[in-house]
Amino acid sequence: MADKRDYYEILGVGRDATDDDLKKSYRKLALKYHPDKNPGNKAAEEHFKEVNEAYEVLSDPEKRRRYDHYGHQGVGASGYGGFEGFGGFGAGGFGDIFEDIFEDFFGAGTRRGRRTEKGSDLRYNLEISFEEAAFGLETKINIPRMETCSGCNGTGAKSSTKLSVCPTCKGNGQIRFQQGFFTLSRTCTHCNGEGRIVTDPCDKCHGKKRVRKERALSLKVPPGVETGTRLRLTGEGEAGINGGPSGDLYVVITVRDHPFFVREGNDIICNIPVSFVKAILGGKIEVPTLTGKMSVTIQPGTQPGSMLRIKGKGIADIKGYGLGDQIIKINVEIPKKLTPGQKELLEEYAKTSGEDVGPGSSGFFDKVKNMFE
Ligand SMILES: [Zn+2]
Ligand SMILES: [Zn+2]
Repeated sequence: MADKRDYYEILGVGRDATDDDLKKSYRKLALKYHPDKNPGNKAAEEHFKEVNEAYEVLSDPEKRRRYDHYGHQGVGASGYGGFEGFGGFGAGGFGDIFEDIFEDFFGAGTRRGRRTEKGSDLRYNLEISFEEAAFGLETKINIPRMETCSGCNGTGAKSSTKLSVCPTCKGNGQIRFQQGFFTLSRTCTHCNGEGRIVTDPCDKCHGKKRVRKERALSLKVPPGVETGTRLRLTGEGEAGINGGPSGDLYVVITVRDHPFFVREGNDIICNIPVSFVKAILGGKIEVPTLTGKMSVTIQPGTQPGSMLRIKGKGIADIKGYGLGDQIIKINVEIPKKLTPGQKELLEEYAKTSGEDVGPGSSGFFDKVKNMFE
């Protein structure tokens, strides 16, 4: 065997390197020279073996001590032949680091053991009235969802003793196979990586571990929600599998239209009809609010479309930033029919203000006409 390189030199660390230093450097080099990244590259393959051998010795305190004292002879190294490939390594830090590296190469899923699975999130559409959105409500909703089977506690078997070791992977959850000179692991498809299989399924869930159930939940809708608001009920979605966490339940709000209120942010807007006489002379009008009727004063000479604001009669802010306002849009009503007496009175009014009420003689329209001449 030709002169072997110093193990510390191979890993590019000093003789005082800590376990962490070794591990870090090893990871870097093993990834760099990994045969999968260097297909057909003999030199890389040799480097890879060299790095593995160096790490195998230096990561073992006893072997490292002997190597420090006696060099390659001390650890009985007989050339690279001592390296057995990935399959040859036992438990300990070595196994862990290989699992880490496999995850880097092949993504997650090579870890052994029961795979837990988070339950799905659920969506529930809740339609509420305008007032319920404004003031909030407490209600009950029925949610059909998958829950952990109570017959088997989620194992899927008639009783926990009926779980058998998976014959395909012998309980490892992983299948090892040879690729090139090293061994890889894949999740066992027979048991989905759990290492155990159900031979005598639970009667209630037929081995599915979960059962569909309709559950009545109390729901508190805070004041101020609007169409599209999503309320999250943590953990009220579908049950997880193998002890995985439950999903969440999202209640999505739809607010029904109100016969005369329209919401704009936290304000509510309504159109209030006012007779032209009241608009001219002023007076009191009655307006509906979310909390009942209210009397509002109209100033003399109020114009059509003008707006009045009633402070604090809107909707509570969902984040607690106070109340919106109610905005009243004045809709001046022009009577379509007049009695002869009313007509006479209005013509009298027109005369006193010097207005010619004959057809086609409005001062405004004369001006418009002039614009085009
Ligand atoms: Zn069951
Ligand atoms: Zn298996």
